[in-house]
Amino acid sequence: MINDFLRLDPAAREKLVKDLRKKGIFDEKVLNAILQIPRELFIDQSLFDKAYDDMALPIDFKQTISQPYTVAFMTQLLELKNGDKVLEIGTGSGYQSMILSLCNVEVFTVERIPQLFNKSKALFEMLNFDIHIKLGDGSMGLPEFMPYDAILVTAGVPSIPNELVKQLKINGKLVAPVGDLKLQTMTKLIRIDEEKISISEHSKFRFVPLIGDKGWEIDDRE
Ligand code: SAH
Repeated sequence: MINDFLRLDPAAREKLVKDLRKKGIFDEKVLNAILQIPRELFIDQSLFDKAYDDMALPIDFKQTISQPYTVAFMTQLLELKNGDKVLEIGTGSGYQSMILSLCNVEVFTVERIPQLFNKSKALFEMLNFDIHIKLGDGSMGLPEFMPYDAILVTAGVPSIPNELVKQLKINGKLVAPVGDLKLQTMTKLIRIDEEKISISEHSKFRFVPLIGDKGWEIDDRE
């Protein structure tokens, strides 16, 4: 089924991948996944001419589909291996989940807005992507299926919730944008052993907030 969609503007995706290489993305798994997934699937038709611009685009409910560079950079930081179990928090459009899935990992993803959850679930089913998607507050992780090799938070957090660290395997990696509501630092945490973690900080990004128990307390649903 995905092959039918591959015909949607492959040349534009090749150009995007070339740009991403120039910007420092080198993980071939990630670049290959970006090459395969038409971004048109996730956005409104009125935005199709911007589908392969390297920028975030609006989706429903004041949320965004992340910039391709951001998706690629975060995925690359996770250093995924075939068969890894990966938890994504903030499914949104489902673009990042599908990129992960094409990196040959088992994907679990959580979304708090029911309409976005339903839309992404339907998209995964339609395209035959075997992605486990859950509705709820992902700020507490998804303990049901722990431990994970990697956790990716795709919304801004004030700090990394300890609950998430506990759901990582030893040597597991967590990537999250950490900061205030306006600007966040991409942060990578490695769980070294039961007690020890290591943290590295990367460049600045702008994400919509993670709203929930261990995130921000804003209600944007009205
Ligand atoms: N990964 C997405 C980008 C998501 S934008 C993509 O590729 O399109 C961030 C998403 O996180 C939004 O859809 C928002 O509703 C969701 N979100 C915010 N707080 C959340 C929480 N506590 N649990 C789960 N999802 C959350």
